[in-house]
Amino acid sequence: MNSSATLTPRTEVVIAGGGVAALEAALALRDLAGDRITTTLLAPTVTFVYRPARVKEPFGYAAAHTYPLADIARDIDVELVPTALESLDTSRSTLRTADGRELGYDAVVLATGARLRPAFSHGLTIDDSRLDEQLHGLIQDVEGGYVRTIAFVAPSAMPWPLPIYELALMTARRAYDMQTDVAITIATPEDAPLAVFGDTVSKALARLLDENGITVVTSAHASVPEPGVVAIRPGDRTLKVDRVVALPQLYGPATPGLPGGPEGGFIPIDPHCRVRGLKNVFAAGDATDFPIKFGGIAAQQADAAAGAIAAMAGAPVEPHPFDPELRAILLGADKPLYLSARVTGGHGSSSQISDEPSWAPPVKIVAKYLAPYLEARDRQAA
Ligand SMILES: Cc1cc2nc3c(=O)[nH]c(=O)nc-3n(C[C@H](O)[C@H](O)[C@H](O)COP(=O)(O)OP(=O)(O)OC[C@H]3O[C@@H](n4cnc5c(N)ncnc54)[C@H](O)[C@@H]3O)c2cc1C
Repeated sequence: MNSSATLTPRTEVVIAGGGVAALEAALALRDLAGDRITTTLLAPTVTFVYRPARVKEPFGYAAAHTYPLADIARDIDVELVPTALESLDTSRSTLRTADGRELGYDAVVLATGARLRPAFSHGLTIDDSRLDEQLHGLIQDVEGGYVRTIAFVAPSAMPWPLPIYELALMTARRAYDMQTDVAITIATPEDAPLAVFGDTVSKALARLLDENGITVVTSAHASVPEPGVVAIRPGDRTLKVDRVVALPQLYGPATPGLPGGPEGGFIPIDPHCRVRGLKNVFAAGDATDFPIKFGGIAAQQADAAAGAIAAMAGAPVEPHPFDPELRAILLGADKPLYLSARVTGGHGSSSQISDEPSWAPPVKIVAKYLAPYLEARDRQAA
């Protein structure tokens, strides 16, 4: 028996969250630090949901995959505490949970996601946890020819980039298949469709939207002052439509003890995903102040945080700063389209679009550890 292994205290890591960032962090830590750490996962939800697949649900496709967190925790040797993080006391390196426990930590990873609120007083704001229920009736009305005009509207701070385009494209194609007419407009604050993916992707997407009869109003700061009316600045333009479908506004998680404030600001992080101004506190994913909210980005941030924590725990790992790269699958065209770009200064460079995947497994959330892990689970379950 190796006595030094039993005598060396393990680094106690608590990960708050049950989404992409949290699971990727847990898997990365297992790979990078192994027995040097023990991991506790704090999550108020029972399952991990594959959120990007939810855009297909209102169109009659199968429901997005869900994975029980208890099974994943058992599988990867993580202790699951089924409750929410309530507050952090960084002076004592402890945190409180919603069910009244106090947990100590050597390092904590905050992966609690963004909060969603409607940006507009009228229209339907999508909530992906019940997208089918929200949009199924609208799609039926499009199929029946009862809805002739729809505006898909994004708030001024762009939330996740893909779903507005996917929903608009799938709606247009459903109308075409059913031989009904629907005029679709997308109003987006971006200066080009999917601007974060760079010029090549934006131009190809603009062509695809045009071919599908979808009008795009870019650099649009929209409001919905009354039902069926979208006001767009600059230019004082007004759209009158049968239905308005809006993306929600995203806010930070507002956790006592954390920067971001009670107003729901995002958690400020440095390039190693350390929370600025706090020791041994890391954050990843939609909860952070990185402006692009995206599953693949959440995973890359989780990997950066895990690298820094593994090095702290004495693992022979060189921590790498988070270097954002976007890879996505856009649904709604004849075939899925594979998009990629590097992100520099908030915009995509090395922009590429193809109908062949350039990464494996070819899935929507590109995550170094989580993607192959889920693929293996899916294969076992099949
Ligand atoms: C419709 C749709 C389509 C999308 N398409 C894509 C796509 O194609 N590709 C892509 O890469 N991304 C896509 N995204 C974005 C992607 O889903 C998000 O960026 C990603 O889910 C963010 O992961 P996260 O772990 O940071 O946050 P979340 O997924 O929001 O997970 C947060 C987790 O934290 C838990 N939590 C909340 N509060 C607490 C607390 N106090 N204590 C502990 N746990 C807490 C929640 O229960 C949840 O489990 C899409 C999003 C939507 C909505």
